Amino acid sequence: QTINSFGRLLDHQAALRPEALALYAPGRAPLSYGALRRRVAETGQALNGFGLGRGSRVAIVLPNGPDMALAFLAVATHACAAPLNPAYRAAEFAFYLDDMRADALLVAQGSDSPAVEVARERGIRVVELVTDPAAPAGTFTLRADPGNVPPTRTGAAEPGETALILHTSGTTSQPKLVPLTHTNLCAAAHNTRAAFDIGEQDRCLNVMPLFHAHGLISTLVATLAGGGGIVCAPGFSDSRFFGWLTEFRPTWYTAVPTMHQALLAVAAEHKEELAAAGLRFVRSASAPLPGPVLTALEEAFGAPVIEAYGMTEAGSLVTSNPLPPGVRKLRSVGLPVGEAIAVLDKKGRRLGPGEAGEIAIRGANVMGGYEHNPEANRLAFTDDGWFRTGDEGRLDEDGYLYVVGRTKEIINRGGSKVSPAEIDDVLSGHPDVGLAVAFGLPHPSLGEDVAVAVVPRAGVSVDERELREFAAERLADFKVPSRVFTVADVPKSPTGKVQRLKLAELLATSAR
Ligand code: ATP
Ligand code: MG
Repeated sequence: QTINSFGRLLDHQAALRPEALALYAPGRAPLSYGALRRRVAETGQALNGFGLGRGSRVAIVLPNGPDMALAFLAVATHACAAPLNPAYRAAEFAFYLDDMRADALLVAQGSDSPAVEVARERGIRVVELVTDPAAPAGTFTLRADPGNVPPTRTGAAEPGETALILHTSGTTSQPKLVPLTHTNLCAAAHNTRAAFDIGEQDRCLNVMPLFHAHGLISTLVATLAGGGGIVCAPGFSDSRFFGWLTEFRPTWYTAVPTMHQALLAVAAEHKEELAAAGLRFVRSASAPLPGPVLTALEEAFGAPVIEAYGMTEAGSLVTSNPLPPGVRKLRSVGLPVGEAIAVLDKKGRRLGPGEAGEIAIRGANVMGGYEHNPEANRLAFTDDGWFRTGDEGRLDEDGYLYVVGRTKEIINRGGSKVSPAEIDDVLSGHPDVGLAVAFGLPHPSLGEDVAVAVVPRAGVSVDERELREFAAERLADFKVPSRVFTVADVPKSPTGKVQRLKLAELLATSAR
């Protein structure tokens, strides 16, 4: 029997290994699979008691941690979960709550989040989570204002029902609303589990935010699908990370490149923890990982670093490099995992190996379509059902995928296409460079010229001439940045991704 809903997944694991530990968190006792299933059912009943049932949309604004993880599983199983970044301001909450048509908002007791007032103004029910810090991870009660209308549909959701509503990261444009069903998410989690051979012996250290597919599906649900444990950290912290390694002895962690880079920046101060860590692998996804960063990470952790490629619309994972002894290819994001990949030309025709075009995907994990956005759907889906990712790439003879970059971010220098990721990759190899972000700068005759913003490593400065020479030794002339901007930081999306287009806009204005 295929496990294609959260309800079935939790029933299955609780029956198979009731005593095995599922959720861990700093300062709390761990929660077993048996208790996890019970807690999810209790929380579902509490939601029903507040008039929330199948199909009810519950926005979740909670800090990262085990209670957030359990609340997500319970809401997704018994209603529909829409986790939002707690860092949003009132105007952002207003946009997201309206856009998703939320029925309720789940927050921590006494929360001072602007989301509460925004919800009350709209007549959206506010449900409070009352945590018990002395009780095991994921133990809390819910309470809500009186005035409940009983829900019409209760019980655990069926595979075809929407479990999760997420917005895309908004890296390139206005975030789009992505509904994902239990079938989509279980397929995505199963793909991740299979690609990384995640099993009962594994313990994942989750530092990714639980309002994005990377943290929710590639770590939390993939771990539960494998029957192992997940450490629900309160969020990413480069200072606390190494203590968690020692305390919880995880077998793997996953992060976006900017987080890996932040860990590398302080790795020299944590040699002891790193030497004792014994990770099976480190995973990187959500944005391109520069080659030099991959190499430095492998050295620091003494474990293979596996790069994967995914997106919200696919419930997370799309391709992954294989674990050793499989062949990992540098700069490639690996092989398709559980679903089909094609590279299409502008007319939607399939291209052969070596030819660059738009990456398209198809599979049980891919969403049915954006919500109330017919224009985006028209552009995103081909007539024969491929989802166009908006990323440019190519496949090699062995079926490995190379992501050239986002179609919108490719630099067009007088007709020559330049992949910004390739330039980032090369410049990250310079000893003075902490972070390099290439982009197109408007140019009167070329259309766009190649420029780069660099954040120097702590305590050093970057010499523009020297850096351009470094680039010229490694890149064709037309790819060598003609401008180098030194910046203290770069704009990032809430998930930690570099917002290349936003940066380009900021620097283009300052360059004028
Ligand atoms: P929006 O669609 O709103 O602009 P977004 O695309 O960043 O935001 P996500 O769904 O979080 O939203 O991110 C998916 C995208 O991240 C992919 O389409 C791809 O561009 C990029 N990405 C993910 N993994 C990798 C990787 N390993 N290498 C290169 N790019 C990656
Ligand atoms: Mg996108």
